[in-house]
Amino acid sequence: MELYLRVDSAYPGDQGGGKARLDPETMLQLRLSPGDIIRISGRDTTVAKVWRAQLADWNQQKVRIDNFTRMNANVSIGDTVKITRVEDTMAAGTVVLAPPEDLPKNIPMADSSVILQNLIDFPVSMGDSVPIPIGMPFVQPQMVAYKVIELDPPEAVIITQQTEIIISDKPISGFEGISQITYEDIGGLRDELQRLRETIELPMRHPELFRHLGIEPPKGVLLFGPPGTGKTLIAKAVANESGAHFIPIAGPEVISKYYGESEQRLREVFEEAAENAPAIIFIDELDSITPKREEVTGEVERRVVAQLLTMMDGLEERGQVVVIGATNRLDAIDPALRRPGRFDREIEIGVPSNPDRVEILKIHTRGMPLFDDVRLEELAERTHGYTGADIAALSREAAIRALRRYLPQINLDEDEIPEEILNTMVVTAKDFRQALRE
Ligand code: ADP
Repeated sequence: MELYLRVDSAYPGDQGGGKARLDPETMLQLRLSPGDIIRISGRDTTVAKVWRAQLADWNQQKVRIDNFTRMNANVSIGDTVKITRVEDTMAAGTVVLAPPEDLPKNIPMADSSVILQNLIDFPVSMGDSVPIPIGMPFVQPQMVAYKVIELDPPEAVIITQQTEIIISDKPISGFEGISQITYEDIGGLRDELQRLRETIELPMRHPELFRHLGIEPPKGVLLFGPPGTGKTLIAKAVANESGAHFIPIAGPEVISKYYGESEQRLREVFEEAAENAPAIIFIDELDSITPKREEVTGEVERRVVAQLLTMMDGLEERGQVVVIGATNRLDAIDPALRRPGRFDREIEIGVPSNPDRVEILKIHTRGMPLFDDVRLEELAERTHGYTGADIAALSREAAIRALRRYLPQINLDEDEIPEEILNTMVVTAKDFRQALRE
């Protein structure tokens, strides 16, 4: 028995958990219960652990998996995968993990017992990338991918308390494990992300659709809304997930007082994009290249706008290079830039709603050991008007407050902080309350 389902992104809290969210109908058909292991086949095959999907996702023929599982099945969002039940959930005796090539040197590595703790009950198959936490225990947790280079027995699908985890010290050349921004890093903004993907990914992947219908794919999209609401974040995520080359530039950085330099810079950016297509050019603070009305001159800005228009008009009509502009002030954008064929799609990125704030809080406290008095719903209530960036800062501040409480117990001269101390460290509701008062 097998089923074909469409891939969607994981829920924010699921990131790094090896979970596959299925609806009751799918579970019934495949005779699955939560906790069972399934095989997911895309261009490659991997395994994941079944969890129940939320009601809103039922009867939609989809499976929600995170970027690690998507990478392991070699699929992206919107692709179709084959799901089968794994009859025998055999435990792994030994798993050998190899680090990626791009592991940062200056960040402390978790030792193997911490890694094991994180991997107990984790689904594995040979060749998988599994998420390993690195960095400060909770101030700046980051997940990197380690690759399973040996699995014994080969048919094993799950890591247990008894599994021996061996960390190879030889990195795999060409294997990049530092996680990039993915859809799991974005709280809320579902419709906005959907629109941006439709506008950008669809023409990139299927230019023939547009050709067939006789319409031009968009060349420019404008994201507008207050600072810190996730405009850069969603642009990066779309680039990563669609495999497009991402070139970020800041508007003010382009403006140079030397004659011809700004134009040259823009030409270079568009050349780099064309050479690496599909590509996304992201221009932050697009309003800064608009001549200011109150200034008489605005000479440089006028030239930069003219050059940008020329470059965009010259883009091939295959949708392989798209320019995303971001601004806090839509009315400050030069009207010439908003005409058809230029930045003619606009997507508003607003301040997050209460449920969106819960999601954003989940994302930014993902790697923190939260004490059980921390209620994210309550924090969401108290952070009305906060942007995603404000919530990220709040979470970091709370963790730093927690850290301060433990500092007297810690001997900073030691190479490694003893695990007994690390294991007692928690971030409490009070840490958040104090951080809120800042
Ligand atoms: P903008 O480009 O709108 O000014 P950014 O995308 O640069 O804002 O956001 C800054 C940081 O704030 C992000 O790196 C992220 O940590 C956090 N952030 C903002 N919006 C969100 C969101 N919707 N979900 C999760 N984190 C967010």
